[in-house]
Amino acid sequence: MQRILVVEDSATMRSLIVSTLEDLDDLVKVDEAESGFEALRLLPRDDYDLIVTDINMPDINGLELVSFVRRDPKHAGARLLIVSTEGSDRDREKGLELGADAYLVKPFDPGELARIATELLASGSESPGSSD
Ligand SMILES: [Mg+2]
Repeated sequence: MQRILVVEDSATMRSLIVSTLEDLDDLVKVDEAESGFEALRLLPRDDYDLIVTDINMPDINGLELVSFVRRDPKHAGARLLIVSTEGSDRDREKGLELGADAYLVKPFDPGELARIATELLASGSESPGSSD
């Protein structure tokens, strides 16, 4: 079972991302957070393989969330994908510098999201002891 957390304050965008990721595989379970704050509440409860986050959110933004996850030993193996309307090189560099593995600019083709998520999940699957 692969666990994914989607952090996005826009309900429309969140449901698009979640449904795209749920269609990847039967063995994927997707949780949703509508804010960075809610993500911080969910993160200690599960071991996520992939965290997909927006940048612009009202409380804790996606870049802060990325740095939090990268300092969290529980999620040392988690892959991080930023999905943002901020398409400048500066934002992309900042996200990758803070520890994101990939950066997708909105609006995006759902097939592109599916392709990147599949790659990230495959690259993170070497974690020891996972029997499911
Ligand atoms: Mg947003």
